Amino acid sequence: MTTTASTPAPTAGESATEFPLAFQLTPSTDARAEAEREAILADPGFGKHFTDHMVSIEWTIEDGWHNAEVIPYGPISLDPAASVLHYAQEIFEGLKAYRHADGSIHTFRPEANAARLQRSAARLALPQLSTADFVESLKQLVAVDGSWVPDAPETSLYLRPFMFATESFLGVRAARKVGFYVIASPAGTYFTGGVAPVNIWLSKEFNRAGRGGMGAAKTGGNYASSLLPQELAYEKGCAQVLFLDSQEGKYLEELGGMNLFLVYKDGTLVTPASSSILEGITRDSIMQLARDRGHTVEIRQVEIEEWKAGSASGDIVEVFACGTAAVIAPVAQLLADDFALGTAGAPAGELTMSLRQELTDIQYGRIPDRHGWLTRLDT
Ligand SMILES: *Cc1c(COP(=O)(O)O)cnc(C)c1O
Repeated sequence: MTTTASTPAPTAGESATEFPLAFQLTPSTDARAEAEREAILADPGFGKHFTDHMVSIEWTIEDGWHNAEVIPYGPISLDPAASVLHYAQEIFEGLKAYRHADGSIHTFRPEANAARLQRSAARLALPQLSTADFVESLKQLVAVDGSWVPDAPETSLYLRPFMFATESFLGVRAARKVGFYVIASPAGTYFTGGVAPVNIWLSKEFNRAGRGGMGAAKTGGNYASSLLPQELAYEKGCAQVLFLDSQEGKYLEELGGMNLFLVYKDGTLVTPASSSILEGITRDSIMQLARDRGHTVEIRQVEIEEWKAGSASGDIVEVFACGTAAVIAPVAQLLADDFALGTAGAPAGELTMSLRQELTDIQYGRIPDRHGWLTRLDT
């Protein structure tokens, strides 16, 4: 096994590896048989089934990143004092592997996920994993579990890299022992029976993040904070919850795990600017595709009052949410305790659906990848 023990010990926040990690494979001895795998891939759902292997890389303050391995998928053994269990020092990423018509397997803008993991790590006082090691970890997993990438339309293998504090220590400080893992889960079409507009609930009582907090980091803590408001949204018959800024409660932020766009009659797309939202790679890609088509794209503060006014005047003609899992989810209505915007059962907007089509066409290799967004994983 090759380790980077000879590399000078990095501290959290520093670039961790000078040389790429070498991975050691321990093949699973009870990998699912082909028939069982095919049965799962025929109806994978989302986040329910996992492939036969996972990536594991250790980090210590003395040795930096080392012990890069692909091992059988299975439980992680943690000391009950592992600091992640007490202080939530954890970050994650989410991206997909897509099977193209020729059988090859590609992922979408993994360097952007790697860079975001590095930013999240900096905020959570976790060590930096290099972009090269991040991308290599995906390739290593797909090299053994490539047969888990489904080939039906709009299906994919969801890749979930994550990093957390494994040190057994109840003192409150950044951990000196950390683990990075990648697991993979086949994903069916997000919208079964066609892309259907969703209703979203406006959370007035709860926020997901505040100024100077962790809102811009992809960390479990932000999700923990969104779960109760999300439950309230379900009770109101809504699929998602929309958060406002925590200081004034008047600017749009984002949904629990998706960014938001408003589309104006003149073709302008507007998406909230905020230091406490998680800037999605889907959001960034949509902005690029819209600009390529000649649309004006504005990233700025957006008051909830602007949505109300634009909805009443007819100036806002489409609204959609976006993120890796759903790609683009059209929004039919925004519901609040004292008002509703949009029309119940409204069909998906035309621009919403055509941007969704273009983005997925690029991801699945159906049209040229003119921005160089795809990375082949199975080579
Ligand atoms: C991951 C995530 C998104 C979407 O990001 P993508 O890179 O587009 O998948 C949006 N908001 C939050 C809070 C997220 O965690």
